[in-house]
This record gives sequence, structure tokens and C-alpha cells, in this order.
Amino acid sequence: MSHPPTLTAYGPTVAEVDLSAFQENVRTLKNIAKSGMFMAVIKTNAYGHGVVPVGEAAVQAGADRLGVTMVEEGAQLRSNGIGVPIQILSSIMTWQAADAVRYDLTASVSSPELANALSKEAMVQNKTISAHLKIDTGLHRFGIEPNRALEFCRSCYDLPGLEWEGIYTHFSSADEGEWETTEDQFALFMGTITRLKKHGYHFPIRHAGGSTIAIERNDMHLDMVRPGIALFGYPPEYRQDNMIALKPVMSLKSRILHVRELPPGTPVGYGGSYVTKGYEKVAVIPIGHGDGYHRALSNNGQMLVHGKRVEIIGEVSLDQTLLDVTHITNVADGDEVVLLGGQGSDVISAREIAAWMDSIVDEVLAGLKERVERIYTSLYSK
Ligand SMILES: *Cc1c(COP(=O)(O)O)cnc(C)c1O
Repeated sequence: MSHPPTLTAYGPTVAEVDLSAFQENVRTLKNIAKSGMFMAVIKTNAYGHGVVPVGEAAVQAGADRLGVTMVEEGAQLRSNGIGVPIQILSSIMTWQAADAVRYDLTASVSSPELANALSKEAMVQNKTISAHLKIDTGLHRFGIEPNRALEFCRSCYDLPGLEWEGIYTHFSSADEGEWETTEDQFALFMGTITRLKKHGYHFPIRHAGGSTIAIERNDMHLDMVRPGIALFGYPPEYRQDNMIALKPVMSLKSRILHVRELPPGTPVGYGGSYVTKGYEKVAVIPIGHGDGYHRALSNNGQMLVHGKRVEIIGEVSLDQTLLDVTHITNVADGDEVVLLGGQGSDVISAREIAAWMDSIVDEVLAGLKERVERIYTSLYSK
């Protein structure tokens, strides 16, 4: 989000995005990839980090391709001068075919209707659009069922204006470490490719794996890996922590807007769900569930002040959250508060916040709204 030109300063609540840490993660994951090609998945506004700066950083660090889930994200990257292939890792509405062609995006095709719409648009615009056939091996979101893939190819493979560049699947239970299920899904995918090839339907780029496969199973890397969340410093599962060293990319910081002492027995915040036990110093932090700082953190989470952990008290409201800062000496208005990241010798990780929310890191990071200013640090390391 860009500031209106009349503002002279940032507000106190900012997300710092360390692009050199991000680029290190890209290189680390690329180094362990057995595939020739590396796609940086930067969907959902780059998991909350900002799709354009992160996309530029990814390409500069060696990503061959970018993956998004919305035509809008692809168009935004193109409008900012990004030239590498950009794949939409989702089905799209047929009426979006025109924009997919116009912005030279790579489509994921799961239906004859979309294949036909893309072909028609490519002809209208006198262009060719790259397409990857999506095979449903068990996630049951998108994709052609393996036993219908041949029938699909017979009707759609030779459509004009479509270049079948790739074929892919997405596993349902890799993060959970359900290897038997994942191996079955992989075998189903490979069998489908072999059957199609026997009938003359060839797809040069075969791909199946996101972060977990990139980290744990190089036997399934094929021609390309597609990590997302790991690029931002968090392996999807704890068991992977000792398999790879990644650096968290985002920190979330704010400042104490106001601190004051309240007498014992004072209800605090909407509904008075927290009541002071003694004389307590209560600080107001300008961030709330309207920013994507979830309501599930009400009376249930921590932040760092002066390098020490303090408790969230009361309900998180749309724009404000309250902290008990009683045990912080000399605490004052304007003091820095770290919600995510390090301060002093302590660190709050997105994993911890996810656990407090009973969620996953993806929701913590990608859930942060665009109204929180992103500040890019270490822009473009060598
Ligand atoms: C989101 C997504 C990825 C990346 O998944 P991570 O687990 O975040 O690495 C890869 N492929 C597809 C199709 C996706 O939708």
C-alpha cells in the first residue's frame, strides 16, 4: 500500500521484509533441488510479504519461474517488468482467459471448457498461451481425473493457440508425512504421464512438489519443484527443521500508543474479559484483527517489549490490542513492540503465533492485511 503523498512518516505498525533472507532461502532450496527448474511460489501476495518486491527478489536470486493463484497477481508482476514465466496455480474462470493471454501467463488447465476458452482467446489475440495440464491424484480440488486424462487429451491437446508445456499434480498429505498416500499419488501421476505419452501426448515439464517435497523427497522433484512457505523461512513441519536452515523473512513491529496504570478489579477491553488483578500497567498497541492480527489471540498471546515477553490481555479489537506491561520498568509511550521477530535476545516466531491461534504459519503471514505498511530491508543482496 503506498502512502498518499501528503504523509511525511510511516505509522507505528510496520511489517519488515528482509529480502536478503528471502534470497538466501531461494538459493538454499534451489541448491538442494534435483530438478532443472525452480519455481518460487509467491501466491497470496507472496504469503503476505508483497508480491512485486518478492517476485523481483526471487528472479534475481535465481528462480526460473513464479507461481501465483490469481490472474491479478500475474498481471501485477508483468506490469512491473517481470519477464520470467508466471504460472497461475489454480483454475480460473473462462472469462479470465483474455487477461491470461494478454499478460502471457501460463495457465493450469483442469477442464475442456477452460482449454477451449484459452484457445479461442489465443486465436483472437493472435498469440500462443502456455498451458500445464493439472492431474488430480487425491487432493480433489482441481484437476483431470487420471482415468479421464486420455479422453481429455484426445479432445483438447491439439487445440490451436495452446502450447502444452507441462503437466502437474499437487499432493494432499505430504506435509502430514503420510508417505504411503503420497507415494501412491506420485505413482498415479507417473502412470498417467506414461499412458499419455504412449498415445503421443507429451508434456515436457513434469512437476509435483511444494516445500515439503523440495525439502524431504528429491526422488519426486522431477523437472521442477514449487516451494512456497519455505521461501519465507518456515519449513511446513517441525520434523524438517533439522533438514534445512532457513531464515524467517518477516518481522512485525509496532509501538506503544499509550500506557497507563489501572487499579485492581478494572475490566479491560470489550466485554471486560480481562480484569486487572492488582495495579497493572496496560499498554495500547495500534494493531487489531482488522490488520489480520487475529481475534483468537485475545487473552492468548505475547509480544516483546524491552526484550521481554508481555501478555495480550482482553479482546483484540479491529484496530487495537492491549498488553499487560506491569513488569516492564520505565515502560513509556512510543516504546517499540515486536509482535513477530526478534527483540533483545528473544524471538517470537510465526510458528508460536500459529500455535496460539490454533492455525498454521501460512495463515499468520498471508493473513496480514495490506493496510500494514511493508518495509523492505536489505534490498537485493549480491
Ligand atoms: C501453494 C502451492 C504450492 C506451494 O506450497 P507450499 O507448501 O507453501 O510450499 C505449490 N504448488 C501448488 C499447486 C500450490 O497451490
